[in-house]
Amino acid sequence: MTVLVPVLGDQLSHGLASLTGCDPADTVVLMMEVAEEATHVRHHKAKIALIFSAMRHFAAELQAAGWRVDYVRLDDPDNAGSFTGEIIRASERHSPRLIRVVEPGDWRVEQAMLDWQTFTGCPVEILPDSRFLCSRDEFAGWAAGRKELRMEFFYREMRRRTGLLMDGKDPVGGKWTFDAENRSGPPPGLAGPPLPRLAPNAMTQQVVELVSTRFADHFGSLEHFNWPVTAAEAEQAAEAFLNKRLPTFGQLQDAMVRGQDFLFHAVLSPAINLGLLDPLDLCRRAEAEYRAGRAPLAAVEGFIRQLIGWREYIRGVYWLEMPGLAEDNFLGATRPLPDFYWTGETDMACLADCVRSTRENAYAHHIQRLMVLGNFALLAGIRPQEVADWFLVVYADAFDWVELPNVAGMALFADGGRLASKPYAASGAYIDRMSNYCGSCRYKVKLKAGPDACPFNALYWHFLARNADKLGRNMRLANPYATWRRMSEDKRAEYLASAEDFLGQMKPAEPGWVRHNSD
Ligand SMILES: Cc1cc2nc3c(=O)[nH]c(=O)nc-3n(C[C@H](O)[C@H](O)[C@H](O)COP(=O)(O)OP(=O)(O)OC[C@H]3O[C@@H](n4cnc5c(N)ncnc54)[C@H](O)[C@@H]3O)c2cc1C
Ligand code: SF4
Repeated sequence: MTVLVPVLGDQLSHGLASLTGCDPADTVVLMMEVAEEATHVRHHKAKIALIFSAMRHFAAELQAAGWRVDYVRLDDPDNAGSFTGEIIRASERHSPRLIRVVEPGDWRVEQAMLDWQTFTGCPVEILPDSRFLCSRDEFAGWAAGRKELRMEFFYREMRRRTGLLMDGKDPVGGKWTFDAENRSGPPPGLAGPPLPRLAPNAMTQQVVELVSTRFADHFGSLEHFNWPVTAAEAEQAAEAFLNKRLPTFGQLQDAMVRGQDFLFHAVLSPAINLGLLDPLDLCRRAEAEYRAGRAPLAAVEGFIRQLIGWREYIRGVYWLEMPGLAEDNFLGATRPLPDFYWTGETDMACLADCVRSTRENAYAHHIQRLMVLGNFALLAGIRPQEVADWFLVVYADAFDWVELPNVAGMALFADGGRLASKPYAASGAYIDRMSNYCGSCRYKVKLKAGPDACPFNALYWHFLARNADKLGRNMRLANPYATWRRMSEDKRAEYLASAEDFLGQMKPAEPGWVRHNSD
């Protein structure tokens, strides 16, 4: 009797814990393209194409390495449409003595997995995902008894544990973080080096065709598809980043330039999250660039912090806080998501450009997500669940474990500050400082109120005023609240009215973008 090893779409790593130690002669690897995962929310077309193409390539690689792979395609007429349905069918085909699987990245899928034994009558072994440095149990141990979970303390432990950028017990350069050096706005004419062009092969083209017909009415374009779908392609993308963009990554990490969608970012998150790249290996190679004098410490430390700090921390928080995190709404935000998040049709040049990049590439970089798209949703008081659904749909790298804490915790403060010590709320001045958007915008960033004023300005004060009972005692907001209190009654009333006018004109999104109307 065989061992059945289901490999999910974001588990495309040859060193996956469930494969390690299995004998290919006695194992059936099960891979499943199921409609439930593609339409649970109506993902961006490019995201579905990326995942299915990467799965098909991975299955071919496993077969070439001697594994027996049972691959269920989306268009298989008997496809049951869900992981559980397919596990039941595969158990009937193979009568396994054991189902061996790595824990998923989605709380919802784990709940289903916990029932597989009951449905199949076969023992199910769920293994920790060893592709993360910090296991769920270890993170829970670190978090136990702490009043606040702050990334910087967690990050120090990860540096010590990995030895990355360490001189003995001390951090290289005498500081744990060089973030303060990584906040430059864009100089005029800033452009990033082009990404390597990855021509889609026949297998990818076939998937792109399938997606463009089967998911034609999903958000997003397939025209610009350029995501790595194999480990070899991901390696090409990683090399290009380490050689061409890493040295400038830190300094311009927060900069935004209209029409420049990638600048000096890694653009590796989809490949990392699918398992095509090993984050620790990337960090070691980034450190080697610093040690060889080819990249400055601030850039390399910044990159390593994102991966062993933020990425690991975010995942730990997800499993610690679920399922409550999905329902959190500390600020009581209830406004529906405006339609321009889908259409991009807004006079706000910053938002329009971020939505355009999102539609074309299934990508926007971190500051666009946090300080434009997230910040606007925070200031306007959009219901966190609608914002989280949007982020889950539109980005190629969006999986529940990483998308939800970033949206609910970091961008929207919906968790009441367990993840971030203060909301990332900012007026138009921040966007103006960090981008070239405002120059081409119909709104005037220097105007504070009225129909021509940058909407972020009045919304910022509206946000602080309406949440004063919940945020007014936050020490990190003491200065803006003091400024608000010092303002004349008239000025305050003018700001609030201007914000109300703008909010009143926002058109809610049509239903059906996230889920079919009938769902
Ligand atoms: C509101 C919001 C939603 C987000 N949703 C996602 C998401 O669904 N999936 C996702 O992978 N990231 C998400 N992020 C984090 C971050 O924006 C993306 O990882 C990053 O933009 C990916 O692009 P990159 O590879 O060019 O990253 P870079 O900016 O070059 O960073 C390097 C790597 O660090 C990791 N990283 C950086 N920041 C984070 C973070 N906050 N959380 C987790 N990993 C991080 C990523 O693996 C990334 O590839 C979100 C951030 C915000 C503010
Ligand atoms: S003026 Fe305001 S709305 Fe326009 S681009 Fe600048 S920040 Fe965005």
